[in-house]
Amino acid sequence: MKMITEKDIEDMIGEVGGSDAAGIYRLLKDKENLNEFIIAEKLKLTINQIRNIMYKFERYNLISSTRKKDRKKGWYIYFYTFNSKQAEEVVLHLKKERIRILEKQLEREEAHEFYSCPNKCVRLTLENAMEHNFICFECGKLLNPEDKEKNTQKIKDFITQIRARLTELEKAASEKKRPKEEHIKVKKKIGKKQIKYSKPKPKKKKK
Ligand SMILES: [Zn+2]
Repeated sequence: MKMITEKDIEDMIGEVGGSDAAGIYRLLKDKENLNEFIIAEKLKLTINQIRNIMYKFERYNLISSTRKKDRKKGWYIYFYTFNSKQAEEVVLHLKKERIRILEKQLEREEAHEFYSCPNKCVRLTLENAMEHNFICFECGKLLNPEDKEKNTQKIKDFITQIRARLTELEKAASEKKRPKEEHIKVKKKIGKKQIKYSKPKPKKKKK
């Protein structure tokens, strides 16, 4: 049973909050109500940068916050708590989202013939390439037809890969949600086996 790993979560955090987000996540996890000034100091970020990332986290309910007014300075200080349970949900959600986007992309790749510049300046559909007489409008080189089969296969493989991981994680998540049932099932199986084996063998070995 493969559960959601720390890497899955950090990848998701980066996707949601950008490159500085992982540092914030590492500080927040396993803690509660962490003062934003402490985060800022440890990561050498400004309060604004931190609040921007927290805002992105909030959109996915990844954090909860409380605030207190600093009486001397008159401004609010925020305290953040990371929501680990929600993190797992978001990992699954983003994988589904990724598949959806790739499927859209696949549709588009399948519907058109693409031509591209050997210098990788442009990539055009057949219709657009014809308008430019198959000449790159950036560097003047002749555009080449792309290998459609190869392009679509790459996307298909990618979708298969993400879907396999998603299925694995969903299975693990659902098994985690009903541990008691699983436990009972296992017990029953062991019970039946014991009956089968005990019938042909005489019980003399046991004292
Ligand atoms: Zn070019």
